Parts: sequence; structure tokens; C-alpha cells
Amino acid sequence: MNIDFSNFELDHLGIAVNTIEEGLQFYQALGFDKYEIEEVPSEKVKVCFLSLRNQVNIELLEPTSTESPIAKFLAKRGPGIHHICYRVENLEQLLQEYKKRGIRLIDETPRPGAHNCKVAFIHPKASGGVLIELSEKRG
Ligand code: ZN
Repeated sequence: MNIDFSNFELDHLGIAVNTIEEGLQFYQALGFDKYEIEEVPSEKVKVCFLSLRNQVNIELLEPTSTESPIAKFLAKRGPGIHHICYRVENLEQLLQEYKKRGIRLIDETPRPGAHNCKVAFIHPKASGGVLIELSEKRG
């Protein structure tokens, strides 16, 4: 399978926050007034999307359980950039191909994400310390 990374689009930057309210205070002070809050039970997080003009979003992530990966991240490192998300097509095939190439994946098959997307994560050990999310719009 031929993959052209330049066809990927930067979808959002995920930022771990203790609470959406706390995170939002800062972004509202910067001048953001439009946002959307959504709960993602599969990830045990509440997310708040702030949209930029070039279609890239800032995603604030608040854990809804101590079992949430975000809760673990916050405990270890405190608030800050958690992941970068690329929008892709044919996520299933892409994951199969990456597995074949020996790239360490957290998800070998997609799972449900925010905004009615399918998502999968690439392990930060594979990518030089950056947690990468791949996301495909459903339907
Ligand atoms: Zn994300």
C-alpha cells in the first residue's frame, strides 16, 4: 500500500487540562468565544473543541475518571500538550499497513472518538515521544 503523508490534514492538538472550565478560562481570555463540549465515554474524557479559521481545532481534554488515560497523563506530567491528531482516509487499511511496517500502534483497529470519528493511536515510543492520533470521519 502506498501512503502519502502529505495528504493527511492536521485536525487538532489535544491538550490535557484538569478541568475544561479551568482550561477554557485561559482560551476565553485569549478571545475564543465559540466552543463545543462533548463527552467521549470510550476514552473516559470530556472534550472541548475550539475551532480555528484554518479548520484546525484545539481539543481540551478533561478526565471523567481516574482510570482515564488523561488522568494518568495529568498525574505524571501535569497539564499540557497530549497528542497531535491527523485526519486520514481508510484508517483500517492504514493501520494494517503500519503494522506490517513494524510501527508500534496502541490501536490495531479503530475505536470510536469524538465528533463521530473513528480514531486510533500510534505509540509515542514509535514516533519520538509524540502521541499521534489518526482520525477518520464516519459515513
Ligand atoms: Zn484528539
